[in-house]
Amino acid sequence: MTFVDQVRRRLPEYPPYYEAPTGDQLRLDQNANLLGPNPVVQNTRIDTSQAHLYPSRDNTPLLEAAAKAFRTHPRNMFAANGSDEILDIILRTLIEPGGRVVTPHPSYSLYGHLCRLARIQHVKVPFDPEFRIAPDAILKERPDLVLLANPNNPTGTLLDPRVVGELLERFDGPVVVDEAYAEFSGTSLIPFVERTPNLLVTRTLSKAAGLAGMRVGFGVAHPDVAELIRRNKIPFSVNILSEQLAIQALHHPGHIERTIQQTAKDRDTLSKELQRRGFHVVPSSANFLLTLPPIPSEELYEALRLNGVLARVFPKEPALRDYIRFTVGRPEDHKRLLTTLDKILDGGAT
Ligand code: PMP
Repeated sequence: MTFVDQVRRRLPEYPPYYEAPTGDQLRLDQNANLLGPNPVVQNTRIDTSQAHLYPSRDNTPLLEAAAKAFRTHPRNMFAANGSDEILDIILRTLIEPGGRVVTPHPSYSLYGHLCRLARIQHVKVPFDPEFRIAPDAILKERPDLVLLANPNNPTGTLLDPRVVGELLERFDGPVVVDEAYAEFSGTSLIPFVERTPNLLVTRTLSKAAGLAGMRVGFGVAHPDVAELIRRNKIPFSVNILSEQLAIQALHHPGHIERTIQQTAKDRDTLSKELQRRGFHVVPSSANFLLTLPPIPSEELYEALRLNGVLARVFPKEPALRDYIRFTVGRPEDHKRLLTTLDKILDGGAT
């Protein structure tokens, strides 16, 4: 057996994560901040005089800025390259290979990938048709860790807080709440980590903060848990360029606040316009809309793509096969989307 065969045997079913097509399309596919880069990117003079040195082991200055912004303490936090990496760290440090991670379904597609990489079992518990879930359904699956996205991606829905409360009470293993879109919902469980040692919250600067390309994410947990994770993760996670921009973004939340306000307004307008065109729209607390279109989702995706508009479909996921998801953008982005949709739905576009 060649070495390549050996690797293939070890990594048998690793479908690659979604790769966005390159080019000049309208990017309604990845839930990034379509208001543009956080202005701190232009306004911050990056200090490169320390580029030959490592950042601080735990990115302490970054944790201090983030703790202030998230109204917690740096001792409750750890940082990494995006919240994807934070989730990877949590799964690898808290769960043995072979352990069971239970997530509601459908949810963020990377969870399955992270579990495969860490040789962990991924157990998916279906949401009901309104995208709600009962604690019993999760606990019945004998989890070693429960992972919940709140708001959930790709549905945009929020969990009933009583469900999370009940899970935290009845389950003494880790409950990880992925709050990548929390700014848009205005709710967060960060205030509870201090007195709830089995609760871990993850956050990111990729969405409301408009810094997806900088790759900065955080974990927030009970101080004893956070300290153990800081000690056990790879050091120097965030590079000094991203660290400096992230600190400025956290000190100057104007872009984040503008994004939250505009997204709420423009999301409602877009939702109404889509409904007028025969889409069923799932009520969203995030910066995207999951919709059931009036024509087959893959056909619509392809027609939009040919017209320079990228949305997201989930052809390999039975629970989502009929849906198409749009990131909320600026009014001019929506105008372009809706004009293109009108052409397609009238049969006038290819
Ligand atoms: N969690 C959820 C639910 C997401 O949708 C995303 C982004 N696609 C992430 C985490 C990861 O964000 P990042 O790694 O950019 O922080």
